Amino acid sequence: MPHRERTLMGPGPGNPYPEVIEAFSRPVLGHLDPDFIALLDETNERLRQVWRTENRLTFPVSGTGSAGMEAAFVNVVRPGDPVVIGVNGVFGERMCDVAARCGADVIRVEAPWGQPIDPQRLLDAHPSPAIIAVVHAETSTGVRNDVAPLADRPDGTLLLVDCVTSLGGIPVTVDEWRVDIAYSGTQKCLGVPPGLSPLTFSDAAVDRIVERPSSWYLDLNMIARYVTGEGARAYHHTAPISMIYALHAGLGVLLDEGLDASWARHAACGMALHQGLEAMGMELFAADTHRLPELTTVWVPEDLPDGLDDATIRRTLLDTYGIEIGGGLGEFAGRVWRIGLMGHTARQRNVTLLLGALGEVLG
Ligand code: PLP
Repeated sequence: MPHRERTLMGPGPGNPYPEVIEAFSRPVLGHLDPDFIALLDETNERLRQVWRTENRLTFPVSGTGSAGMEAAFVNVVRPGDPVVIGVNGVFGERMCDVAARCGADVIRVEAPWGQPIDPQRLLDAHPSPAIIAVVHAETSTGVRNDVAPLADRPDGTLLLVDCVTSLGGIPVTVDEWRVDIAYSGTQKCLGVPPGLSPLTFSDAAVDRIVERPSSWYLDLNMIARYVTGEGARAYHHTAPISMIYALHAGLGVLLDEGLDASWARHAACGMALHQGLEAMGMELFAADTHRLPELTTVWVPEDLPDGLDDATIRRTLLDTYGIEIGGGLGEFAGRVWRIGLMGHTARQRNVTLLLGALGEVLG
């Protein structure tokens, strides 16, 4: 396989921070080695700072963002539980699929793709649901769904939030928003390759963990004994050692920069890209009040020169300029582009590079 450099401006992965790549060269230790345990504890502490939470059960699930999604539902859903889920893109749909497989009575609250979900509709959908679940940053559409108003839900209802594309890129404050369960993915705004899913559970969510979840691998009763260090560190599955080195390093970069500075950097790059695309006569897809800076959706121009279409343009960007951008999903395949500015990729130089390259390709 050729060794090519790419500027990863698709919906994820983004380019990892250089410090993260360096961390992969550390010697592999055993998962019970005291040095590794110290690094794992420090990683979990860094995650608490990034999630803005005091939650004890905060750690990276082995697996990508979808493993975090499954861990979130499979540990707390009991058959027949009413679970309200916001659906305005692919990942809200995926939540419905996962929750239904756990036996939930899924109550869908839909909004058109490209539009945010009104939080009041989620609150009004059922008088006392077991869970209200929503995707904070819908990567399929570039839309932010508001989470803060969901703090005012009935007592006893858990709030479960997908933060795969939001953590590190836009404000996420787990304790202030009274989020009970949240998961993310390393490959987006955390600037680390895919492979781990940071997860956090409030004490209320921990109290609701079922005795015997239908997944053995994602059973938090067992995993917690290893990751939290309360009692003996009991082996459950072999921790992905090098990925945890990488996440530890990525969180270090993020915390050194500061969360506020990282959010501001993503916001500035996103704004520059939005303005640059509009200045080229292109039309943005996501509702202007709820656009994500880290994931921009834009309509593929209709009046393209002969011989150019969605696929040829994306292929030329890749082959000639080394830039990856993403295509649309579902009914927007071929009609929308998804352009990521996540983690280390969220730099003004990449905005300028893409706008220049796109200008040359479109002529
Ligand atoms: N949720 C959201 C919002 C995502 O964007 C993604 C992936 O793009 C996922 C969940 C699933 O994560 P993964 O593909 O890492 O399993």
